Amino acid sequence: MAFEYEHFDIIEVAKYCGIQFHPKNSNDVEFKALCPFCNDRKYHLGINRQKERFNCFKCGESGNSVTLYAKLYGVSNKEACEVLRGNKENFEPAVVQYSEVDEMPIRSIEDRHNVYYDFLSLLKLNTAHRHALEMRGLSFRHIHQFMYRSMPMDRVFRREVLEKLASKHDLIGIPGFYIDKYGDLQMYINKYGGIFIPVCNHEGYIQGLQMRLDVPADSDEKKFRWFSSKHYPSGTGAKPWIHIVGDTNAKEACLTEGAMKADVTSVLSNGQLFIAVPGVNAITYLPEIINELGITRIYEAMDMDKRSKPEVKKAMIALRTALNGTGVENISCTWNPAYKGLDDYFLAKVLEKQSQAMPVAA
Ligand SMILES: [Zn+2]
Repeated sequence: MAFEYEHFDIIEVAKYCGIQFHPKNSNDVEFKALCPFCNDRKYHLGINRQKERFNCFKCGESGNSVTLYAKLYGVSNKEACEVLRGNKENFEPAVVQYSEVDEMPIRSIEDRHNVYYDFLSLLKLNTAHRHALEMRGLSFRHIHQFMYRSMPMDRVFRREVLEKLASKHDLIGIPGFYIDKYGDLQMYINKYGGIFIPVCNHEGYIQGLQMRLDVPADSDEKKFRWFSSKHYPSGTGAKPWIHIVGDTNAKEACLTEGAMKADVTSVLSNGQLFIAVPGVNAITYLPEIINELGITRIYEAMDMDKRSKPEVKKAMIALRTALNGTGVENISCTWNPAYKGLDDYFLAKVLEKQSQAMPVAA
């Protein structure tokens, strides 16, 4: 079972760990500090109190207050949590005054689509990623059609891509891109690398990109994140966009979590209409999407594995209320909980059929 974090003021934790802050930190939310994980002399470590996250722009190390302590002292997250809890009274009370973060206004969907389309066209999909997608049940044609691409981890290649893209587009206001303090165009990059997944609206416009990160199997870091540059200089955050895939003329749709899962399951079910929210909590745009699609019935098929968690239970109730509010008939789907997501379930069914169809050797 995943370990549940307790929350600590990450600034207090960083001070406790002896991290050196930039002498001129301008607000109460974002801090610059010397990164203790690399040979940093220029305050590459960004710490965000509001998000309880740290991130080094130089070496890419990132995490929350608990993993900060754990990584620095080489202890487990559980042990780190215990140490921090034991010292909590030594911390100053976490009175946080949130100041406005200067975020660039987000650009129109047409602009975002044009940039992301060209961006993805410049990128490649590496063999390991293609293989992983094939294992999920996608054909070469589908992988091509969905425009999945690997994050450009090679610095030289990345610079090339950024330059080509910037020669054609203004990238300010496009989530994922920002201008660093030296005035250079940059893109968000995660140390693990991963696959970009286009999140499309019902007309096929790319609204934003999600990343399926190659986090190690034993890590409890999030696998899926938005390609976003919120809190980066001249950056822009992503919104909880909803992904639509399959037959948009259909009157029935299946509601699931995660664009990639929707793509896979739609393919495995011969092009059925799927609506994918980015998370069970991220349903802001759901009612308007349901109205736009003009569907009459929704099959709610959120992941089975998390349904027993109290916070997910709560979110499921909110989801049901939102669905009922649309006036569209909605049916909750359950399946064998041995399969985490609907895609796993469908893939197992498809493979079962294939193996039955295979001639048995005498
Ligand atoms: Zn670093």
